[in-house]
Amino acid sequence: MRCQPTHDNPVYIWLKNAQSCLLCDEPSDSPQALCSACEAELPWLGSHCRICALPLATMGLICGACLRKPPAFERVEAAWRYDFPLDSLITRFKHQAQWPLGRLLGELLSHHLQHAFSEGLTRPDLLLPVPLSSRRLRQRGFNQAGMLARWLSQSLQLTLNEHLLQRRQDTPAQQQLSAAQRRRNLRQAFELAPDGQVKGLHLAVVDDVLTTGATAESIARLLRKAGAARVDVYCLARTPKPGD
Ligand SMILES: [Zn+2]
Ligand SMILES: [Zn+2]
Repeated sequence: MRCQPTHDNPVYIWLKNAQSCLLCDEPSDSPQALCSACEAELPWLGSHCRICALPLATMGLICGACLRKPPAFERVEAAWRYDFPLDSLITRFKHQAQWPLGRLLGELLSHHLQHAFSEGLTRPDLLLPVPLSSRRLRQRGFNQAGMLARWLSQSLQLTLNEHLLQRRQDTPAQQQLSAAQRRRNLRQAFELAPDGQVKGLHLAVVDDVLTTGATAESIARLLRKAGAARVDVYCLARTPKPGD
């Protein structure tokens, strides 16, 4: 029909290409603020553990740790390996409050999840961001997992609950601790909101990076204990095994 807008007129194309790449500052040749050359250089997650997304040499396997002790979560969905230059992009988002960068990473993670849903991954009933301790929240001013979860909720039309998962106490910053200390520390770190109801639900916990998986495990255990039917974890990046 004549009255339908045509999508190939110059103004439309100009609008589509008006963004510049957030990484190299050149005009972007894609609808995102990321050029295809920079996109190709990101450390996309290749073959990985079917449960915890740990990078592995072969596709379709389960890693030794998950075989020895199956985690309380069903599976981890991550777009990238936590590697250069993605590590510095996440740091800029988290510690320098570069939100457009976070938004871009969130958008790409949402494409990744959209693809996973189309390949048969079950859509969750609820998205739950990993809460920050109140001390951390005061320092940083925002919860990066909460922002990611909000963007995912909008673009994937998934329900979000930012208050169901809560921090019980201020725990020391996790980065400086050994794996054993982290686990001990985390066992008591989270709780459900008093009116929180998760019975029979399929939940997806959202975080920026999955490192040892201790946080995800502690939250998944809490949720499964409260009756959740299934817990998945969605994150931007998965840390490779040290030394890999
Ligand atoms: Zn670029
Ligand atoms: Zn694994």
